[in-house]
Amino acid sequence: MNLKSLRVGCGILAALICPASLAQQPVDTVVTNGKILTVDANFRVVQALAINGGRIVASGTSAEMARYAGPNTRIIDVQGATVIPGLIDNHFHFTRAVDRWHQQARFEGVDSRREALRILAAKAASLKPGEWVMVQGGWTPRQFADAPGGFTLAELDGVAPKNPLFVQESYSQVYANSLALKAVGLNPADGARRSAAGLVSFQPPMALYDAMPPASSAQLDQNLTDYMHELNSTGLTGVYSLGQSKYLTERAAKGPLPVRLWETLPVFANDPESATKAAAIIERSRPNQFDGQYGIFGLAETLYRPFFDLAPRKDPWPAEIMNDYAKLATAAARAGFHIHEHVINNSAVTDLLDTLENVNKVQPIGKLRWTIGHVYDISPANIARAKALGMTLGVHGAAMQAGAHMPLRKIADSGIVFGLGTDATIVSHYSPFVTLGWVVSGLDVGRNRVLDETLTREEALIAHTRSNAYLFFQENALGSLEVGKQADLVVLDRDYMTVPAPDIKRIKPTLTMVGGRVVFTAAK
Ligand SMILES: [Zn+2]
Repeated sequence: MNLKSLRVGCGILAALICPASLAQQPVDTVVTNGKILTVDANFRVVQALAINGGRIVASGTSAEMARYAGPNTRIIDVQGATVIPGLIDNHFHFTRAVDRWHQQARFEGVDSRREALRILAAKAASLKPGEWVMVQGGWTPRQFADAPGGFTLAELDGVAPKNPLFVQESYSQVYANSLALKAVGLNPADGARRSAAGLVSFQPPMALYDAMPPASSAQLDQNLTDYMHELNSTGLTGVYSLGQSKYLTERAAKGPLPVRLWETLPVFANDPESATKAAAIIERSRPNQFDGQYGIFGLAETLYRPFFDLAPRKDPWPAEIMNDYAKLATAAARAGFHIHEHVINNSAVTDLLDTLENVNKVQPIGKLRWTIGHVYDISPANIARAKALGMTLGVHGAAMQAGAHMPLRKIADSGIVFGLGTDATIVSHYSPFVTLGWVVSGLDVGRNRVLDETLTREEALIAHTRSNAYLFFQENALGSLEVGKQADLVVLDRDYMTVPAPDIKRIKPTLTMVGGRVVFTAAK
């Protein structure tokens, strides 16, 4: 009798013949023979997990966990593979990707121009002549290590001779083929590349978006299914979707989603008058309605639209704007809301902290874990001030695309809780392994050095799992593979801890599990 059948036998006849030390109540799932990075407080590595009813009930060696196997137990033998907790993204624009997912090609982690063109050609070939193909950002021209740069008209006409096609580069540029240019009244003779009028005006991509026929509701439904599956295939098991969408609410009502989704309370404060109304809505709304799968969580990513930090400023933000910001922040604190605020430059961090330190005197914010998101630049003094207010930081892949030299070592050494995310899909990729590869190696996808300060692999993985769980008040349920927590995990095709740092971006999940349910397996 081999070890496995003995253990199974003990499962069946436990009460009759097995010694008490061996007998266990059978569980529904055992994950075994792994290098399982639990990401607990000691970064403990175990071989196996026993899972029941979606939660981890025991962890240890493969032999120890075999005692939990009964005749109906599903055994997932990962054959030595590395297993990590499910990855959580703390800053994501989810619905815009879903809206056009059936038409999208993506360059996540693609470091060769030839490969990018192959992806575009394959997408065009999969559609009918005349149907639109688009890349909704998330890449930079410098990521193609073999031939950096944007796309020429000849290239785009070559890969999509029968389909209008455009490749959006963040908010600033777009490259379009002849059919797409003609569709919006532009002359192909002027070339593929068109500049946007400004960062937020979204022109001319908006004209191209408008030229595409709207997706039917059946198509949107399919896109939602397909995009959540895509996220599972990258190892994501949770994302903070900034915004609120009806179709997500409807889907969540039908049963557990394959990706845990947090959304934001829909409030809009653009001027003093709308700020007063928004403050009233915030005060009578219930914070953190997340039910374990889905729900409105907090306020993001610009609490008060006039305080929208992009380029560095010479002067501090005007007092009247910060006063209205303070009114909204006070209302949020009173109602118990989390805020995830978009701030890019250190000077704006200073202005924000000046304001929040005053708010804190009137209405304490110390238990609300407010997040300053983006922070391409933040001084050690401001990190310390934010930490003293109980605040947290969001570090995003968008900074890699921007080539921002973020002070990651200073952030990590300060002890402030910080989580990783992306800001997908226009200004950033969504692949968490691209993000992990960037913060560990200091290199962008095209192997250009964009960080002077990097994180250890352990620090990076904690920031993409356990720390994000903390940001969302889910530290007792999510973010590490510990007894009592949800079985959200990812089996990897290579070892995150030992693969060369520039290759972390190439890691592919082979299996993704959310709450004990297998939501993705790689085709063999
Ligand atoms: Zn954003």
